[in-house]
Amino acid sequence: TAKLLHKDASEVIKKLIFLGVMATINQELDIDTILLLAGEFGVEVEVKIPVEEDRFETVEENDTPEELKERPPVVTIMGHVDHGKTTLLDAIRSTNVTGGEAGGITQHIGAYQVEINNKKITFLDTPGHEAFTAMRARGAQVTDMTIIVVAADDGVMPQTVEAINHAKAAGLPIIVAVNKIDKPDANPDKVKQELTEYELVPEEWGGDTIFVNVSAKQRMGMEDLLEMILLVAEVNEYKANPDKRARGTVIEAELDKGRGPVARILVQHGTLKVGDAFVAGNCFGRIRAMVNDKGRRLKEAGPSTPVEITGLTEVPGAGDPFMVFEDERKARNIADKRSITHRQSELNTNTRVTLDDLFQHIKDGEIKDLNVIIKGDVQGSVEALKGSLNKIEVEGVRVKILHSGAGAITESDIILAAASNAIVIGFNVRPDVQAKQTAEQEKVDIRLHRVIYNVIEEIEQAMKGMLDPEY
Ligand code: GDP
Repeated sequence: TAKLLHKDASEVIKKLIFLGVMATINQELDIDTILLLAGEFGVEVEVKIPVEEDRFETVEENDTPEELKERPPVVTIMGHVDHGKTTLLDAIRSTNVTGGEAGGITQHIGAYQVEINNKKITFLDTPGHEAFTAMRARGAQVTDMTIIVVAADDGVMPQTVEAINHAKAAGLPIIVAVNKIDKPDANPDKVKQELTEYELVPEEWGGDTIFVNVSAKQRMGMEDLLEMILLVAEVNEYKANPDKRARGTVIEAELDKGRGPVARILVQHGTLKVGDAFVAGNCFGRIRAMVNDKGRRLKEAGPSTPVEITGLTEVPGAGDPFMVFEDERKARNIADKRSITHRQSELNTNTRVTLDDLFQHIKDGEIKDLNVIIKGDVQGSVEALKGSLNKIEVEGVRVKILHSGAGAITESDIILAAASNAIVIGFNVRPDVQAKQTAEQEKVDIRLHRVIYNVIEEIEQAMKGMLDPEY
């Protein structure tokens, strides 16, 4: 170790004693101690994990077309507050209590499945784009499709626009559920009209967005909506290989008084079985029991199935990857290594794009669009800024505006930026306290300006690599 750090052995040992570690010259140090030492000496170390074992997050799905089987689509519901997301989730769920499944006790496990025309659909139970994008910011891609709920008596509202932009930034197909059509002042056509501004144009007006009129409260239109989801699923051909070790994502997890750590996970590839050894985030375990959303115990769970599992040693985080390994020893090994690399990546700074390092990313060919989120004091200045930014093009790189709006920079903006590798521009507005904190944590670049010309100039210079670094 001393040699690697270019230090004297005695110096290293002294430091170790100072850190409370008793060591001899030939002793092998564990990785934690090495990291600590390196920190003390101000040296950067990189923990190399043998390639064979580094499969956790870098797995490529290399299934043959024959191995891939149709799987249920995974759907998220988003929309403005009070437009009926929760009611819709409940309505869809109860629509489905048909013969065979009746009698089951509803379990809230972060997602549920319904069946229509002998096909299943999986719904994530946490409505809203914040939860969705927070998962995405952690690298988890769990959703195939978004339902945007718009109340027909209220129309498009700020969070409707946010939800649309979050879904678009994730590249997901959108179905619009026009809700509350039972209300006397419901005006579904006005909703359609308003949404054309966001490139959601119904088929009858020459577009390709599916609109479904529903009343979540009166449970009207539920079957239409489910059938439309199946239609979109058919077009997109969602598939996975069920015949391999399972991989998926933790949707939620908690410490249960009686059962210890429980995790609700979505299986995305392969089939999960009772007894499987696995890693979830930095935790490992062996599946003791699996329960589905109807409270039924399962022995196996295939792609797109949400299950609640017990048998973990610790509580993982929402959005953590989940993966089965051949045995428990291996799983434990990977979990240990992951907790080290995790800590290390927390120590290491910045993998997100900033204006200062934009040019490097462009030169390296890593970036073709500069993703931007714009917040301004009034809609007029936001529109003006958007117009000017859209005209910038430097060496094939363009500005892509993921989201814009009037008002302070919020945490939701920051999370979207983190999930989409974007920078945030504030025009005569500032981030609120929460946003500022999250931006620091997530290393999101926020640029505050008062003059449109300055914004344009800064972005152009950054694209050309001519920006004076900020100190
Ligand atoms: P969320 O904030 O988007 O989850 O909205 P909720 O599902 O909590 O619904 C907000 C309010 O709208 C509640 O009082 C619901 O009862 C009501 N609501 C939801 N859907 C409908 C509907 O289809 N018709 C009517 N009249 N009210 C509805």
